[in-house]
Amino acid sequence: MGKPIVWFVPPERVKEGIPIILEKSGFFSRTKPGKKIGIKVHFGEEGNNNHLDPELVRIAVLACSYYDLQPVVIETTSLYRGKRQRASEHIQVAYKHGFTLQSILAPIEILDGEYGEKFYTVKNAHLAQKLRYYRYIINLAHFKGHLLAGFGGVIKNLAMGLAAKAGKLAMHSTTKPYVNEEKCVSCGCCIDYCPYGAIDYFKYVARIGRRCVGCGGCIAICPNGAIKFNWDEAAESVQKKMAHYCQAVLLDREAIHFNFVLKVTPNCDCNPETEKPIIPDIGLFASFDPVACDQAAYGQTRQALEKVYPGINPEIILAEGERLGLGQREFELVAL
Ligand code: SF4
Ligand code: SF4
Repeated sequence: MGKPIVWFVPPERVKEGIPIILEKSGFFSRTKPGKKIGIKVHFGEEGNNNHLDPELVRIAVLACSYYDLQPVVIETTSLYRGKRQRASEHIQVAYKHGFTLQSILAPIEILDGEYGEKFYTVKNAHLAQKLRYYRYIINLAHFKGHLLAGFGGVIKNLAMGLAAKAGKLAMHSTTKPYVNEEKCVSCGCCIDYCPYGAIDYFKYVARIGRRCVGCGGCIAICPNGAIKFNWDEAAESVQKKMAHYCQAVLLDREAIHFNFVLKVTPNCDCNPETEKPIIPDIGLFASFDPVACDQAAYGQTRQALEKVYPGINPEIILAEGERLGLGQREFELVAL
């Protein structure tokens, strides 16, 4: 098997680079006119303005429309407590950050239900339920640092980004959610809500029982933030699980991956603050191979990221991706 191609465009030509890469790669010949196509984007947590520029999304949407596809901008709810934990609030954050219908020319669909509890399971990975409607994906990732993985690029954008809460929970934690008794005010919202009837009262405090399947919906339901989980998965294990989830997302799908190495910050866009970039903008890397695409971007940012996360080896996700057959770390770079 030959080396995968990674296309590169410098920062000043990123906007024109998107349609050129979509054309040159032949991606659209792999799709069928009239079909839905998911454009995967991270809108950024409220307070973080380092997310992708909505104009980049608009450019991808226009390219899809030209080929008579139906572009939909897709995302999922977040696991942690924040402004994107519920689908309706998540869409409000997207609008605030400029991803309105008027600007991106496509609707937004949050794929895992209002509370992130809707999932289906493929290869043991709990993916957002409505992902099943999408055979074609354009993966637009903002490349930046990440607390557990060292960096977040195209693999993470699909793995964490298209997992339902159950999947995010499984990647981050070895245990099911639990109730913090001190914070529980016995409102009963979680008991009424749990689709699996797994929550009951015990001594006037909610208690999660054995029927819990770890869907994570109750975390978003509790108005008091009393339902918790342990962020106890080790960095190495999280990276390996992300490679596995990315593989599950890509099973029987056609996708092309874009890493925008612009505004590279220490933390990911889930962080509710606008951090200063740690290096000057580098540009855009794109490929059909997500491992090669992340390897190319990581290769250009390694020194700066190592200083931020000296204890983390980000190559685990790349090695695991290669081991699983998700892609290759050696690639051919084509500068456009
Ligand atoms: S929703 Fe929260 S506060 Fe209400 S009963 Fe459940 S855990 Fe307690
Ligand atoms: S108790 Fe378990 S099954 Fe019920 S909503 Fe919470 S995570 Fe889902």
